[in-house]
Formats: sequence, C-alpha cells, structure tokens
Amino acid sequence: MHHGNIEETNLAPVGFIWHSTYSCAYDALFTILYNLWSENRNKWSTKMKLNNLIGSLITGFLEVNQGEITMEICRDRIRQTLHNQNRNKFPLRQGEGTSIFDLCEEILKAHEIGHIKTKCRVCEREQESEIETLIFDCHHINNIRDGGSNGAHHTIINWLAIYLDIQGIDGGARCCRQQMRTIISLVHSPAIMAFNMYGTNIGLTKAFTLRITNKRKYYLTGIIYHGDYHFNCWFIDKNGTIWYNDGMETKRECIIDGDISKISMSDLNMC
Ligand SMILES: [Zn+2]
Repeated sequence: MHHGNIEETNLAPVGFIWHSTYSCAYDALFTILYNLWSENRNKWSTKMKLNNLIGSLITGFLEVNQGEITMEICRDRIRQTLHNQNRNKFPLRQGEGTSIFDLCEEILKAHEIGHIKTKCRVCEREQESEIETLIFDCHHINNIRDGGSNGAHHTIINWLAIYLDIQGIDGGARCCRQQMRTIISLVHSPAIMAFNMYGTNIGLTKAFTLRITNKRKYYLTGIIYHGDYHFNCWFIDKNGTIWYNDGMETKRECIIDGDISKISMSDLNMC
C-alpha cells in the first residue's frame, strides 16, 4: 500500500505572504528557516536556538504550527522587535527595505562560535575578538587564488578552507607598515551557517563536510537571491527538491523548481 500522498501534501513547503512595508528580506529568510524547522521540529527547535531573537521566532513557528497565529503575525512580531532595537536598519515603512545581511546577522547571532586573532609579524602585537554571528561575509577574501586561466569556479568550501587556514590570512589591519595576519578559528562545527556571496566570484556547494572537533556534513538548504530591491528564495528540502518562493508573487505557495541532484551548481548561481 502506498500512503505517501497525504503526507507529501502536508509537507509541501510554505512561504510568507509579502506585505507592502517591504517584508521581503524577512519572507525570504523565514521561509527557509520555517521549512527547515518543519522537517524536524524537535531537532531544529534546539539546534536553531542560537539567541533570544531566533528563540522567539521558533516559538512563533510552534504557534503557527498549532494554528494559533498566522505566519505573517509570526514574522511581524520579529520585525517589530528588530525595529525597536534599530529603526534605521530595520524600518517598518513602505519604501524602505531591510538588508538581508543585516537581518541574517541578527537572527544568526551566537556565542562561543570562534575567534578572530590578528597578529603583527614584526612586533608580535596581538588582538583577539569573538566571531559573533553565523553569517560569513565572503567579501573578506574575494578573488581567492585564481583558479588558473580557465577561471575555474571557487565554491564555499574553498572559501572556508582559506578563511579558516591555521596559517591565517592577510587581514585589513596594519601594524609596523605591514598587513597583520588574521587567524580565524571555530570552536566547533556550527549547526547552521550562512554565506554572503553577493558580488563575489564564489559559487555554491551542494554539500560539504567540515571537521572542527567533530565531523559535520552540511547541505545547501536555502538560497536568497537579491534583485531590484526585492528578495526571492529557494528552499531545498531533505529529499533534494528545490522549491521557489516569492512572497509577492507566489505568496503562501512554494513551486517546485528542480532537483538538487540533477542540477549543476553553475545553473543555480545564475538564478
Ligand atoms: Zn607591529
């Protein structure tokens, strides 16, 4: 007996309905987080709880799931919290959008992720700071090693390998007329990571393994695309189905847009 149909219908990803106060950044990020969370509520309720803000978002997801509030009320509560924290970064008016990077930075804030240590090779002066968020800005090292004359595609894993190189990378800060060496280290493999690749030559990776203290495999779960002051997103479910959502056009519905195992990564980059 085949009993997959009903479950599949119930499990189809859902999106947030766009609001005219430019909710698109929230719609895109929360669509990915909500659908990932829905795949394994117990697991992600714990693993995604990086800070109080995302904690409230997860509480909201639970309420949505129990039919107590709409997805949009859940989104707008977080928007209001962020707006109260910083009115300029997180506006609530028509005509003023929110940067997806600023939003990810807040939602993915976490403690004890890792350290950034800068050191001068001449006088040995050192500075150390904490990594505070799980969105990594790939602009820190763009144009990583020319992949030869054929312009080979660099992916997130190449970028991470350089970023986390134990020898360090040349940082922006200067001391003794030289660029200081920056050594970035993670304490453990985080449960989720996001990468800001906009305007870089770095390509997406379907999956990769990272070994810090333990080995962890990462799967591409979401892509947010920015164009014309608007954001669209793709959510990749655990079966590898790619779903497209645009809160403005597709609203609640997510549309199947392929299968991750059958698509080439350079096609995805073009989206
Ligand atoms: Zn120095």
